[in-house]
Amino acid sequence: MDKEGRPLVRKWALRAVIAYFLFGAAMYVYLFFLADTAIPDMYKGTSIDPATFLNSRELMLSEEYSRIRNLMFFLATPYQWLFYYLILLFGISAMFERWAGKTAKWFPLQTIIYLFWLSLATFVVTFPLAYTSYLFSKTYNISTQHFSSWMKDQFLDFWVGYATMCVVVLVIYSMMKKFKKKWWLAVWVLSIPFSILMMFIQPVVIDPLYNDFYPLKDKQLEMKILSLADEADIPAEHVYEVDMSKKTNALNAYVTGVGSNSRIVLWDTTLERLDDEEVLFIMAHEMGHYVEKHIYKGIAGYVLLSFVGLWLTAKLMELWVRKRGKVWKVDSMTSISSLPAFLLITSILLFAASPLTNWVSRYQEMRADRYALEMTEDRDAAVRTFQDLTRAGLSQVNPPYLVKIFRYGHPTMLERIKMADEFEKQKDED
Ligand SMILES: [Zn+2]
Repeated sequence: MDKEGRPLVRKWALRAVIAYFLFGAAMYVYLFFLADTAIPDMYKGTSIDPATFLNSRELMLSEEYSRIRNLMFFLATPYQWLFYYLILLFGISAMFERWAGKTAKWFPLQTIIYLFWLSLATFVVTFPLAYTSYLFSKTYNISTQHFSSWMKDQFLDFWVGYATMCVVVLVIYSMMKKFKKKWWLAVWVLSIPFSILMMFIQPVVIDPLYNDFYPLKDKQLEMKILSLADEADIPAEHVYEVDMSKKTNALNAYVTGVGSNSRIVLWDTTLERLDDEEVLFIMAHEMGHYVEKHIYKGIAGYVLLSFVGLWLTAKLMELWVRKRGKVWKVDSMTSISSLPAFLLITSILLFAASPLTNWVSRYQEMRADRYALEMTEDRDAAVRTFQDLTRAGLSQVNPPYLVKIFRYGHPTMLERIKMADEFEKQKDED
């Protein structure tokens, strides 16, 4: 870097760091002092009011833990942006590219080496935040995972992320080199079969690396669940239990995979700690996702969104690299050292789009709840489930607005319990 460039770099870096801390402080004040998470007066004393189903200790812990988790969430994403920006600004990305260039001459191999250094740096820099989250989760007795097991998951994340990144980045930069202007369109077209393939292998290749999956252990419960599944034409071999109790006290169930690998997965914690009616309600909820094909609609939504996202990324990245590439020592956009700019822009766009994607997800979750209520006709089990989920995850019934729009892929517990009550009322009127 030339001599005049250096004070400029320092000034920009300082500004970015200050902006990050100001944002963090603002979020802290918002989450801990300004946001009102009290239950509206009209719901006081009803099944929505956590004071009716949590003891005072659980009430206090859930408020505390939720605030911490919300703050961690709002700190973690911009922390990554700051990291990408600083490694560009200080020429660290360019340095990784030089190292890769010294080791190998062939572009794909250079890319793979560059990505190793970048992934390693990202891992090291983000590790303190991940570890802090883990410690909080242990402190509040949500996580039951031993450090060694948690660390093993971190390494798995690293290698799975690295392998995926190698494929994705090689394709992106080959397309950039090949189609100077329309590379984003080529990447978008290729991303469609790639996402479908990833969704297809996720439950059979990726997920088993982390946890054990097997048919339901409780055979009596399995019979009830499968007869429910049968009502919705879901084949028995698509229902799995996963061993999560070694890792967490939280409860969950989800639908995953596409085609012959599509499946409903119930955490063993859910099966062990909820009564049969609650498990059946959760199962019916997951069946709602399955029957209404929310996975496929989700893929279609992301394909549409990524069309706009990739186009925008291409425009912004071209502009930014042209303007600042010299300072970063990044020759051109097609140099692999420009990657942090790509990651930074896409991450910001994804974050900006998250109120929309979360809104769509909350709508689908509401549909699944409704499906489950219609199928089980068991309002009490639904309400008990939502209350038990709140207790097990120490979550907020009525989270702050910004938390809801940026973090919540599910309706809030206030909304879910309210809907169950309204459903019951409607049924009575009919
Ligand atoms: Zn759901």
